[in-house]
Amino acid sequence: MPKRILIAGGGYVGLYTALQLQKNMQPGEVEVTVVNPENFMVYRPLLPEVASGTLEPRHAVVPLRAVLRKSRFVSGTLTGLDVERRVATVQPPAGPTREFEYDELVLGLGATSKLLPIPGLVDHGIGFNSLAEAAYLRDHVLGQLELAHATNDPELRRCALTFVFVGGGYTGVEAIAELQDMAVDVLEGYPGLDPAEMRWILIEAMDRILGTVSDDLAELATTELTARGIDIRTGTLLESAENGRLQLSDGTKLTTDTLVWVAGTRPQSILGELGLPVDERGRVVVDDTLRVNGHANIWSAGDCAAVPDLVKGGTCPPSAQYAVRQARQLGDNLLRTVRGQAVKSFRYRSRGEFVTLGKNKAVAEVLGCKINGSLAWTLRRAYYATQIPMLNRTVRVLGDWLIGMPFGHDVVDFGSREEPRGAFRRAAGKR
Ligand SMILES: Cc1cc2nc3c(=O)[nH]c(=O)nc-3n(C[C@H](O)[C@H](O)[C@H](O)COP(=O)(O)OP(=O)(O)OC[C@H]3O[C@@H](n4cnc5c(N)ncnc54)[C@H](O)[C@@H]3O)c2cc1C
Repeated sequence: MPKRILIAGGGYVGLYTALQLQKNMQPGEVEVTVVNPENFMVYRPLLPEVASGTLEPRHAVVPLRAVLRKSRFVSGTLTGLDVERRVATVQPPAGPTREFEYDELVLGLGATSKLLPIPGLVDHGIGFNSLAEAAYLRDHVLGQLELAHATNDPELRRCALTFVFVGGGYTGVEAIAELQDMAVDVLEGYPGLDPAEMRWILIEAMDRILGTVSDDLAELATTELTARGIDIRTGTLLESAENGRLQLSDGTKLTTDTLVWVAGTRPQSILGELGLPVDERGRVVVDDTLRVNGHANIWSAGDCAAVPDLVKGGTCPPSAQYAVRQARQLGDNLLRTVRGQAVKSFRYRSRGEFVTLGKNKAVAEVLGCKINGSLAWTLRRAYYATQIPMLNRTVRVLGDWLIGMPFGHDVVDFGSREEPRGAFRRAAGKR
């Protein structure tokens, strides 16, 4: 009988674990099932470019059914676990829940936005974790430019042209940098709108942005962004966002329709309900072989797991770079377990980091070398294009980038995607 391996989550961990299994498994050895709410894996490091429109949203994802040819894909969400019976409960997109028996279970559920109890944040903010959020923000920013151009109300115009991002980690920095770059680029198409009228504000609680990269690199990024007019407020907190009126801890008051919350992530809350050991941050506690503590046949990795970092100490950072390597190790350890062999520890030393800051602009630290400008930007693109595990997607991404080179950013705002049935309802006389 083949061993049943159930993988919950089809992101970096889920996809790369399944690919590693597909690559090395013998016929009839294991039966792999991947459960994920969407039938695609989001290539999250490309989301900032989806937000600026330099990449088509569809091109920044990997279609799971197309790459998981030797596995079974099920669209659904893990909702419960019976570790004694080795049964996982899965909620499909509709209808009753289903039960899946497993011999080995992998949890790769990733993370979601970490919210703080700030008045008005939930009603007025948006995260930057998903494809939908990135695509929405592009349309939203273009919509705000349209509004500012069309209105003759100075307050409305000022509000529309104020864009606030909270969180100066690489996600926040990349998001604000790409979107501001796009907005400045398209502005010549809006006669009467002056770039100086736009306010792009990045709020960070710590005393510097890009806390995970070296001081030099953070300094380079700060200089670049500040020179472009992005107002970076370090040591500052968002205190309130009620009715879109922001109150900052430095006393500033702002009115805006654009509040992007990128101040950290937390593991999916379901993890705390599965009866597995979790740490103070809600991550599943695993040993250095990626096995969940106290559970011989449950494994986890990526953003939802506290994976010991054998190189630097502590736990591994939540990054795609680590998640991919952990997943490959996890795939190998699963096969070793099935074959009765000893499993191996996960050990990885980061090779560097890229931070995109817009078209032709990036900072990077690669193998100890600090690079910035168009060289860093080109290296980043080359790196990500070659990392996508599907030729079809690599070609599409390269195609988008190549076609975008000689042209400016596209100004088309698909705002109607927010309310796709609106016209149909209005045709029926409904609002
Ligand atoms: C905007 C952005 C930019 C980034 N840029 C970089 C970068 O440049 N470099 C880098 O190294 N890292 C980057 N990261 C971080 C990187 O994307 C994550 O560390 C990585 O995705 C973690 O992989 P994962 O498999 O743990 O989670 P994910 O890739 O998020 O996958 C988790 C999957 O689990 C699914 N899921 C959730 N709940 C359930 C459930 N109950 N049942 C079933 N499935 C479920 C989700 O839908 C998702 O498909 C970035 C992240 C973001 C958001």
